[in-house]
Parts: sequence; structure tokens; C-alpha cells
Amino acid sequence: MTTTRFAPSPTGRLHVGNIRTALHNWMLARQAGGTFILRIDDTDAERSREDYVEAIRADLAWLGLDFDREERQSARLDRYEAAFAALHAAGRIYPCYESAQELEVKRKIALGRGLPSIYDRAALKLTDAERAAKEAEGIAPHWRFLLDHAEPITWDDGIRGTQKFDPAQLSDPVIRRADGSWLYMMPSAVDDIDMGVTQVLRGEDHVSNTAVQIQIFTALFAANFAAHESAAKSLPAFAHEALLVGREGKLSKRLGSLGCDVFRERGIEPEAIIALLARLGTSQPVEPIADRSALVAGFDLGTFGRAPAKFDEEDLERLNAAIVHQLPFATVQDRLPQGMDEAGWHAIRPNLAHVGEAADWWRLVTGPITHPAFSDEDRAFLGEAAAALVWGEDPWGTLTATLKQTTGRKGKPLFLPLRQALTGLDHGPDMGEFLPLIGESEARTRLQVAAGA
Ligand code: GLU
Repeated sequence: MTTTRFAPSPTGRLHVGNIRTALHNWMLARQAGGTFILRIDDTDAERSREDYVEAIRADLAWLGLDFDREERQSARLDRYEAAFAALHAAGRIYPCYESAQELEVKRKIALGRGLPSIYDRAALKLTDAERAAKEAEGIAPHWRFLLDHAEPITWDDGIRGTQKFDPAQLSDPVIRRADGSWLYMMPSAVDDIDMGVTQVLRGEDHVSNTAVQIQIFTALFAANFAAHESAAKSLPAFAHEALLVGREGKLSKRLGSLGCDVFRERGIEPEAIIALLARLGTSQPVEPIADRSALVAGFDLGTFGRAPAKFDEEDLERLNAAIVHQLPFATVQDRLPQGMDEAGWHAIRPNLAHVGEAADWWRLVTGPITHPAFSDEDRAFLGEAAAALVWGEDPWGTLTATLKQTTGRKGKPLFLPLRQALTGLDHGPDMGEFLPLIGESEARTRLQVAAGA
């Protein structure tokens, strides 16, 4: 049974990078008929905000990414306490007393020597007496997880292939602050175990976290922490996606500010975002596929490339227009101007880049319109058109066929003055579909007005 999760921290709005991670995890779960969990990573009480939690839910709803379960880290502190106790008992957690400044000095020294800044485990060498002295001074410890240096950490990444880390090249991560609060590293592994997560798919900025977390998972399994029924019994499958970059190929600030609000305001359809993000960075072509079940069916981590995926807002606009042209009436109905029916939507939709523009086009139907000035010759022609108009199955086809015969006009001189007289524009909706929308008497009036009659 596949279980995936999307684990945002509610410290801001979702941006396009988060949306992509959410989508891919949702797709993995839906493809397998599995479970998709929304996990709110809110252990950072100071930076987490309830309005962001609500915005995350609202954004996922707007995107149509439904989740089967919602979990919150702030409601699971007892489990983290239990995991901490288990790891501590197993000798995998140790107290540290360095201040932020001391650590910063160590970091600068390493940097100055051209060495990677890896925590030197000085706290591990403290004697009981030295620790007691620190605590007597009133220094509360923060806690690190003791990495096992014995063997390399390896996994078969669903996107990056075989990954290998030398744990000695990693710092023992701080997992708990001196005030008792939790950092991301351990709670995430605890949750993945408790919630039976089978696949962890996230950005490649988490690759080295995965190396550390594999050791945390393994230590928790060894400590019998995962004994309960719903717990994962083995490591999840990991996959890390290349990051999303802007059109110029750089990690851009702009992407961080692009979220559902901006998209919605611009008239971008959720389906356009889904169609783009589902395949961006994969070897599958980005296409205006409005049916997301087709995207889900074809989703395959094996098609993901290692190069950063370029997010281009112009691509999104193009895709949006192509998606709008396919949207069924029922999907857009409540966003259309009053009176616009299914036939109206079908006539007008091919002209729209955004659904919101339907109102402008609908005004062509309801009128009034302003037509351009016509030559005497065209006025006479339009007068003839007003007289020749008959209302049947296909009024436009009949009208143009008749006028072609009676006036000898064809091509542009035949069609353009009619279009201009009936819509006020040189280009626009398919006239065959548009004319019935105006109705017979309005159409005749427009032709007569244009003819100057
Ligand atoms: N809260 C973490 C983040 O937003 C979750 C990472 C993960 O998927 O484990 O980066």
C-alpha cells in the first residue's frame, strides 16, 4: 500500500516549488490507489502560523489535490519524546553545550583552513564532571544525533540513482534545541515511520538530510520503536527531484513569490498549473492535458532528469490558453457572465487566454457594439445582407452563400464587412457559432445600422 506525504512548514504561503512537490506526491499516491497525507510541519512554534495552515489547505483545495489524512507535528510531541528516549537509551543522542557564537567560530576556522565545516564532536568527549559543571553554570544542553561512521550510507534514489554518503563527512545533526523544541530532522523520520510512509519524494535540497534520516530510521527500528501495527517496518523509498529554476536558469526569488494567489488573480486555471508541473523536468512533453487522470496514469519517476527544471511563466500562459479552449461549460459556468449559456461558451472559448475574458466577448453578443466606418460600396453590400438574412439551421452559412451568389464577392471582401458589422471587430469568434447567439432581429438590426439604413 503506497503512502506518500506532503510536509510543508506553515511559515509562509506555498510557492510553485512546494506545489510541484505536493502534486508529485499526490500523483504517486493516486496512481497506486494509495494514501496521500498532508503533514503540517509546525514544530517551530514561533514561525508557524495558523493562517498559513489554512492557506495551505485552501491552495491544495483550489488545485484539486485532495488528501486522505491531515497530521500535525505539534500534536505529536509525545511521539518525539518517546523516540528521543529510545535513541538516547541506545546511545545515539548526546548533549552539547556550545553557544551559537562558539559554533560560528569553529565554522569560520574550518572555512579558513579550507575544510568542510563538520561538527568536531567536542561535546562527546566531555566527562560527566565537565557536563555537570556546564549545567551548574546554567547552560541547558541542545542535543545531537550521533552518526554511525562505520559504514557508508547508501540508497537507491528513485531519480538520482545510487547515492552514497560517507557519514564522517556529515555533522551530527542537532535534533533538539536547548529549550526542548524539535528541529526538523528527527520528527520527520518518526512521522514517516508512524504513518507508514512508503515513498518520500522531495527536493534535492534534502539529499543530505536523507542520509542522516536513514540512520535515524535504522536506529529507531533497532530500538523497536516501530513495533506498532501501522508503523513502517522498513525504510521508505526515497527520490529527490532537481530544483525548479526560473527561465534564466537561476534559482530565482520570483519563483518563491509565485503561488496560487498570483495564479488565480492572473486567471490561470489549476489544470494548467497541474499540466505544466506534472511533466516539467521529465522527458515527457509538457502538453495541455486537462484530464489529470491521464497525467496520473503516465507519471513515472524514471522520466525525471537530473538537470534543474525551468519554470517559464510564458509556457504557463500558453498552456493555460490551450486548456481554457477545452474546458467544459460545467467547469466554468459559475465564472461566466450572466446569460452566457453552453452554446455561448463554445462559441467564445477558442478566443480566450483566460476564462475571465469571456465577459468582454459576451458583450459582443449582448451589445451595443461600435462598428467601423464603411465605404459606400460596403454599406450597400451590408444593406443587401440585412435583407438576405434568413434564420434557419445555419444562418451564417446560408447568408454568406447567398451573398456570394448575388454580389459575386468572395474571401475577405465578403466576410470582413459582415464580421465588422456584426461584431465591431476585425477578428473574433467563429461567426457560424456567434451569429445564432445574437439572434435574428439583433443581427438584422446590426446589419441595417452598419448599412446606414
Ligand atoms: N517541512 C519540510 C520542508 O518543507 C519537509 C521536508 C520533507 O519532505 O521531509 O522542507
